[in-house]
Amino acid sequence: MIDPLQRLRCPHCREGKLVPVEGALRCLTCAKISALENGIAALVADFGAHATELERARTINPLWYVEEQLPEATSPWRHHLKKRRLYVEKLLGNELKRRGTAKVPALLDLGCGDGNNLKWLSVYAETSYGCDYNLVRLARARAQNPQATIFLADILDFPAFDGSFDIIFFNHVIEHIRDDVRALQTVKRLLAPDGLLVLGTPNEGAGWWQFAYRRDPRSMETTDHVHFYTAETLTARMRAAGLVIEEVHHMGWGPPDWKLDGRIRKYKLVDDAFEWIGRALLPRQASSLYVAARPASVA
Ligand SMILES: [Zn+2]
Repeated sequence: MIDPLQRLRCPHCREGKLVPVEGALRCLTCAKISALENGIAALVADFGAHATELERARTINPLWYVEEQLPEATSPWRHHLKKRRLYVEKLLGNELKRRGTAKVPALLDLGCGDGNNLKWLSVYAETSYGCDYNLVRLARARAQNPQATIFLADILDFPAFDGSFDIIFFNHVIEHIRDDVRALQTVKRLLAPDGLLVLGTPNEGAGWWQFAYRRDPRSMETTDHVHFYTAETLTARMRAAGLVIEEVHHMGWGPPDWKLDGRIRKYKLVDDAFEWIGRALLPRQASSLYVAARPASVA
């Protein structure tokens, strides 16, 4: 196993490798220091500007970025979250089989939040990484994943070398990023040549969920989503960023009412029934989309 720092690069010059020096990381090329904030490497070029930007986003909804993300065991959508996990585990299991290996060298949970997913993702890789742009969440991610390398990063100026990761899990992040094609280009840059991207996002461009927003206009005002994808609009963006789509999967059905949805789908029978009926009758109106993709080869 190689030193986890070998895959990360200096956020200042974007060239140098990082080495630990008392309480910080120093770039071997430009000698600039990246601070550790409560022990977490802050790999952004301007930490002050980064913190200001986060505070500004929080003025829209103070709970964003602070509220704990409920893990599968306690979420009202626990049965749905389990279906998601089983689907992703199947994809990753197939990937290991294809490679004939028990673990890939490196996995990145890009936008890992509180690190709930990294706990089960880490078994697929020798070295696992989790990053987010929010230190509050990263502190929780680190506490839950002491084996992983956890760092602060800006996806549009990402502090890792090209081709560093064999698997990237990019779950419920892209719908928050205005320049989504640029973010997807970053993912493509970070993937190893035969690396696998597993991307999850709400299928909120679908008529069923647009109807839910129209019925409850306040939910549209307070959402922090800036994109409302369907399988078609999402995969078009992914292709534009140089990714080759391997599989598109619709998952999760519910009533087009945000509050009612959480109340009734906590019951397994209800969640299973919606899944079964939805898949049969309204296959394109699921709540979640998962896409598996790889970087286009530069033949
Ligand atoms: Zn540097």
